[in-house]
Amino acid sequence: MSTSKTSNPLAKARIAVLGYGSQGRAHALNLRDSGLDVVVGLRPNGPTWHQALADGLRVMEPAEAVKGADLVAVLTPDMVQPTLYKESIEPNIKPGAALLFAHGFNVHFGQIVPRADIDVILVAPKGPGALVRSEYERGRGVPCIWAVQQDVSGEAEAKTRGYADGIGGGRAMIIKTDFKEETETDLFGEQAVLCGGASELVIAGFETLVEAGYQPEIAYYEVMHELKLIVDLFYEGGLTKMLQFVSETAQYGDYVSGPRVIDAGVKARMKDVLRDIQDGTFARNWTAEYRAGLPNYKKLKQADLEHPIEQVGARLRAQMPWLHTAAPAATPLKKVG
Ligand code: NAD
Ligand code: MG
Repeated sequence: MSTSKTSNPLAKARIAVLGYGSQGRAHALNLRDSGLDVVVGLRPNGPTWHQALADGLRVMEPAEAVKGADLVAVLTPDMVQPTLYKESIEPNIKPGAALLFAHGFNVHFGQIVPRADIDVILVAPKGPGALVRSEYERGRGVPCIWAVQQDVSGEAEAKTRGYADGIGGGRAMIIKTDFKEETETDLFGEQAVLCGGASELVIAGFETLVEAGYQPEIAYYEVMHELKLIVDLFYEGGLTKMLQFVSETAQYGDYVSGPRVIDAGVKARMKDVLRDIQDGTFARNWTAEYRAGLPNYKKLKQADLEHPIEQVGARLRAQMPWLHTAAPAATPLKKVG
């Protein structure tokens, strides 16, 4: 899989990247550095307008960026995409051009019904934008999954692969999927394991230790700080490498106590979460919450930000200023989405 300009099917294409957040910035910079023609579409003087200019990219209003483009990558937050599509994309995208998403949410749940005369494709990196960029800069790539929903040009697959290549995914691995599988697995992963599951596990562990009278600082190091060691081992070598690097005592505790904490009830509730995703309940609730001005979202987020683990953690992390520059994990653009 090559990323050279000459062999990329998008070598002669104009690519419009709409949005310059976690994914948008990484995609735009990687595509440009792969020798492709990129423009960024943003609200004039919006929060990331100046950053895109400072990065040396051409920036224009979304409608203008869409007009000349052969491929339009929709990388704004999911909840603003339907309005952006109606107002700026649908009236302006060229027949035969490709509309690309990094998450299938709006197409799969019918919030966007793309015009019949365009390709509709998906390239979803399995990692946050900051990693998509930093891996690319190191000559590596983040694995991507890709899908074609609508192929009017007969070249939709080639364009999709060209885009995945251009952002560096081809250096790792690209796997074919469809919009349904990408959407449902992505939502499940972030809810049950990555964001929701992991943070609740950490909070419950912290509270258990503090309520038993242990020092909050020690509880913080134990259940949040040290989690990085374990996750890095998973990332590099799965359960096998983690088990090689922890003591026999830790392994025995893992085998006997892990399943007491994460028991069959947890898996049954994971299946409930998956069912709500599959039948559209989650998408309906999230869309309604967004339209109502995010009242519950804001309340729940505030509760997380004010949790004692955050008070203790902020104090302890201030003693280790190097954490902020250590890895892409600490950059403000890091998000799992
Ligand atoms: P983000 O919130 O980090 O960035 C949003 C960008 O869109 C910002 O530049 C913002 O200024 C801009 N924007 C907001 N409203 C706009 C509008 N009306 N017109 C033009 N620009 C507007 O978003 P993100 O997390 O990068 O997510 C983008 C897409 O990528 C989503 O579909 C998401 O599901 C998907 N995705 C994200 C991740 C991730 O790691 N964050 C991973 C895989 C897929
Ligand atoms: Mg997601």
